[in-house]
Amino acid sequence: MVLKIKKYPDPILRKKCQEVKEVTEEIKNLCRDMIETLVENQGIGLAAPQVGELKRIIVVQTEKEPEVFLNPKILKKSRETILIEEGCLSFPNLFPKIKRAKEVEIKVLDPKGKTIQIKAKGLAACVFQHEIDHLDGILFIDHVRVGRRIWELLKFYKRGKK
Ligand code: ZN
Repeated sequence: MVLKIKKYPDPILRKKCQEVKEVTEEIKNLCRDMIETLVENQGIGLAAPQVGELKRIIVVQTEKEPEVFLNPKILKKSRETILIEEGCLSFPNLFPKIKRAKEVEIKVLDPKGKTIQIKAKGLAACVFQHEIDHLDGILFIDHVRVGRRIWELLKFYKRGKK
């Protein structure tokens, strides 16, 4: 089932998410729906609060298939950074440039309930950082310096009125 995406400034986007304790049927269904929603919206990343669920679940479109990651946690960030244009399904048509760590090491629970560690770099590293931020109520615009952020938000609201 394709879920409805919460758009900024929906207050749920600022809430902190709870860890997934057990991979229940309900969680599995949510994961499946999140993948469908990501594909339908042609996104490369989606976090549970964006579909109204305060759970630590993200879907990331890696090179091939979208994959689900539960309780993702960044263990290590490279000092080297990368600046790329990011988008967010909760902010249609807004693509500010965001600086992030170029490489990250992440600990996640896979859908079978096993803890695994993964490494990501470049675009994938940025997607993971963006989606994991969502789980703590942090949005990509928070990484844009204040003056620029106001300008980006004005653009966003103007477009929203169409
Ligand atoms: Zn986002």
